Amino acid sequence: MNLKNIVTAILLSMGLFTSATSQQEKKVKNVIMMIPDGTSTSVLSLARWYKYGICPADSVCWLTIDKLICGLVKTHSSDAPIGDSAPTGSTYATGYLSQSGYVATYPKSAGKGKDLVYVNPKRAYQPLFTVLEAAKINRKSTGLVVTCQFTHATPADFSAHTHERDELDLIAKQMVYNNIDVVFGGGTQYLDPLKRNDKLDLVSILKNFNYKYINKMHDFKSLKPTNSKVWGLFANGDLPFDIDRNNDSVPSLAEMTEKSIEILSSNPEGFFLMVEGSKVDWAAHNNDPVGVVSEFVAFDKAVQVALNFAKNDGNTAIVICPDHGNSGISIGNERSNKSYDTLCIESLMSPLTNCKYTAEGMAKILNSLTDINSIPKVFAENTNIKLTPLELSMLKETVNKNFRTLTQKIAKIYTDHSYIGFTSMGHTGEDVMLAMYHPRNYRLSGIVKNTEVNTYLKDILGGYNLDSLSNQYYCIDTLALKGYLWQINANQTSKNYSTLVIRKEAKAAKHAEIEAYTNYVTIYNNMEVVKKINLNSIAIYVSVPDENISRFYIQKTIGEILEKEI
Ligand SMILES: [Zn+2]
Repeated sequence: MNLKNIVTAILLSMGLFTSATSQQEKKVKNVIMMIPDGTSTSVLSLARWYKYGICPADSVCWLTIDKLICGLVKTHSSDAPIGDSAPTGSTYATGYLSQSGYVATYPKSAGKGKDLVYVNPKRAYQPLFTVLEAAKINRKSTGLVVTCQFTHATPADFSAHTHERDELDLIAKQMVYNNIDVVFGGGTQYLDPLKRNDKLDLVSILKNFNYKYINKMHDFKSLKPTNSKVWGLFANGDLPFDIDRNNDSVPSLAEMTEKSIEILSSNPEGFFLMVEGSKVDWAAHNNDPVGVVSEFVAFDKAVQVALNFAKNDGNTAIVICPDHGNSGISIGNERSNKSYDTLCIESLMSPLTNCKYTAEGMAKILNSLTDINSIPKVFAENTNIKLTPLELSMLKETVNKNFRTLTQKIAKIYTDHSYIGFTSMGHTGEDVMLAMYHPRNYRLSGIVKNTEVNTYLKDILGGYNLDSLSNQYYCIDTLALKGYLWQINANQTSKNYSTLVIRKEAKAAKHAEIEAYTNYVTIYNNMEVVKKINLNSIAIYVSVPDENISRFYIQKTIGEILEKEI
């Protein structure tokens, strides 16, 4: 902590000034955004009881996030009070409300009576510049740390643009070309030419960009701060839940957070890092109380890592908020209708703390059994639950068939033996927790809109203007290429191979081509490649056959490059 920060901290503790308001006081060098996906507010108290039980000294039995909580966030999307992860995460990243499936992309109007905010029809499908992309333009290092596959909605919201969140191959390509310094999580399959529909080898492309690409715990542990560009993926898809995880092969969210900060903080210009506790949401969708609470405790450990760095650094802010609620999880359910006030901590929490694995982890164990008659014994050993005849026959019917169904049946058994309630297997629309740390205590408070979280991020990063950056770097082709002849060669098999071909005059031998979702333009003389020139942003190809839309969004200054080259 430098002298100025110490003085500020002393003044704050003396109550001599209560808020830091000048732009200089707000601005920090590093920002860590942390999102526990799909975490309803009741998970906070549940996690506290789960972690500490009866607390010998109340003063020490707090979650790290507890003392940072300063308000609540409204989470709706542009056309629905209950949001999907793609638009809700996008709102934090871009400042705009959007709709289901839209990843950092301006929404389309859902029609009269449905839009919750004004939606400008002229901007539909426009890629929206994100805080991560803006940090990059401002020479900061950037990172994404998640426990799901890296192509999932929340990490994509900060680093890719599409109106179809399920286009994972397309999202992966954008993220590879978007010059992110550190990516940790799961999802090797989305880089693998043997598993991608378009057969694109994104690992080779990463290596050409001088990234270190690692998949092993040993390589992760030996990463040095000097490994400034690294992708570390530790599973084909999502990473295992924290309590199911093999510590020797998969790093924890806290370990990935620590390592990413170690690397990113070597940039003297600072960094922007997004950390997602991705699978609180997945456990909530399964209605698995053990998964929800243990994943949130793992997320809180990552918060502690970030907070230790921020306090020591003195120039780092942390913003923590879920993207939306999920499952209506409650402490107390139908079983406690009459007994709620006489349930002791042991009765309330041991059904959860006795489980050594999440429902998904238990499903893997049951699927690996050679004799299904051992189910009752194995189940009891790992959960302390004595299965009823009905539960046992249900498990025997499902084991080694549909994995998701088996997981949900186990989750139902966990819940039926506990006092935890669920009202939905989907997202929920209540406000979510907001927690912040700022070295000069400049924080939001009360109930805020999700768009205000984005405003805050832009503010503390130094006053970024994302609207202007969107117009500058995701400029529609008709405007960016005025005065040129151009056409889109749409690839019917994969959008990833569609190209934008630009000429000054018809039949000119020299021309330029931009491949969809890459960050460079290639100059040709007839069929021969003359040179490749890097751009500051990725070119986004949008194709909506139903509406007869096929267009590119590219850097507005492309004309200056073309003027010299073709
Ligand atoms: Zn979500």
